[in-house]
Amino acid sequence: MRNDTIAAIATPPGVGGIGVIRVSGPEAFTVVSSLVRRPGKPDELPPVPPSHRLTYRLVIDPETREVLDEVLVAFMRAPHTYTCEDVVEIQGHGGPLVLRRILRAVLACGARMAEPGEFTMRAFLNGRLDLSQAEAVMDLIDAQTEAGQRLALQQLRGRLSDQVQEIRHTILGVIAQIEASIDFPEEDVPTPEAEELSPPIVTALEQIQRLLAGAEQGKLFRQGLRTAIIGRPNVGKSSLLNALLRTERAIVTPIAGTTRDTVEEVANLRGIPLHLIDTAGITPTDDPVEQIGVQRSRAAAESADAVLLVFDGSEPLAEQDRRVSAELEMMGFGADEQTHKRPVVIVVNKADRDQRIELDELKQLWPLAPIVHTSTLNNEGLDALEETLAELVLAGRAVNSDSVLVTNTRHQDALRRANEHLQASKASLEQYLPLDFVSIDLRAAYEALGEITGETASDDLLDRIFRDFCIGK
Ligand code: GDP
Ligand code: ZN
Repeated sequence: MRNDTIAAIATPPGVGGIGVIRVSGPEAFTVVSSLVRRPGKPDELPPVPPSHRLTYRLVIDPETREVLDEVLVAFMRAPHTYTCEDVVEIQGHGGPLVLRRILRAVLACGARMAEPGEFTMRAFLNGRLDLSQAEAVMDLIDAQTEAGQRLALQQLRGRLSDQVQEIRHTILGVIAQIEASIDFPEEDVPTPEAEELSPPIVTALEQIQRLLAGAEQGKLFRQGLRTAIIGRPNVGKSSLLNALLRTERAIVTPIAGTTRDTVEEVANLRGIPLHLIDTAGITPTDDPVEQIGVQRSRAAAESADAVLLVFDGSEPLAEQDRRVSAELEMMGFGADEQTHKRPVVIVVNKADRDQRIELDELKQLWPLAPIVHTSTLNNEGLDALEETLAELVLAGRAVNSDSVLVTNTRHQDALRRANEHLQASKASLEQYLPLDFVSIDLRAAYEALGEITGETASDDLLDRIFRDFCIGK
């Protein structure tokens, strides 16, 4: 049902100064009107106030007539609302019980509980947002750093959609030219020459490839970089985690340790949410309790995007160090851009002490990984470490606040398919194949790009995307 009236608590659970209940749909005004009263006039249905204005009202329980809360209510007439439907927002006192009782009253008067993301889905279905903009709403809410927030806002404001539409427009122009000549072969529509058709295709390809080039980096800003801190016991892993968090004034949210053995915290690495995972160690042990820790650490390493591999510089390289290294290598870490191995930064810690580690031995173990010397005791080398990690994962790409970056795997995937089809159409042109071949691939590219904005998205895809939203959004 996409034209009934829905309601939900739009503010997060818990206690707050105010809490908002949002109601949207054709009956929104009627439903809320039946519940609100002016102070001192409990029996009189007040008129609907002017649109988009906050009005002071009491909310009553429709059955018992008990006053539930004093609220500010905004009636907002379609279409200039979040969903493009009639919307009412009730600002009540922010206690969970009060809000739930108001919501229950709203539901009792004919609204239905909204599904996760249903308000935003309606905004999409009613044409106020396209799909990539709707996704940006969620990214904006979830953003963990200012850079991530700016990128989401760019997307919400349609910067990505505009570029995608421009490319689609170019492709459609070529399709039109080809199809006119196919449909009216005998008439005065001349068959276009390959030389004439190919420049716009090349332009479209260049634009798509530019977007694709930034996608890996863009995804980092949205999803963050999972970085495991690995090394044998006592080299200073936990100290390093703390030191990195302390130097970062922009810690976003600490994530409570999920287990006793791995602790995860979020720091801000030049705008990338850096998820640091401190592990207990991945060296084999006979102690069953430690074994669990080792397994969890191993799992943390397996799922990490990058590793900070820590050594104690004040001691010679130990057998255990070698074993840790060997294990990481087997997991496919290696800092080798050519083979797309996941990056490793070698951290030689305890630089404040006399150094007894042989750097040559380290270099033999990890010929391609950068080495950084740190002392968590003196907070030395931490900036260099961050710098090195950022360089490694951003691969020299500077991101400024108004770049349009693809931050979403779904978009990246659609762009890749569009790219392949355009390449194929270009190849067909170059081989002077019949123009039908060219236009089939052009159409496929056009459709793939349409998935980004939602023009050619299936119901299935839509459900999947909006399911991830929170209720009330
Ligand atoms: P982990 O087992 O790898 O997590 O190591 P910890 O962070 O628990 O540190 C082990 C020991 O090394 C502690 O006593 C720390 O105080 C000490 N330590 C850590 N980093 C440094 C450092 O940079 N210099 C010195 N001198 N000691 C350090
Ligand atoms: Zn530790």
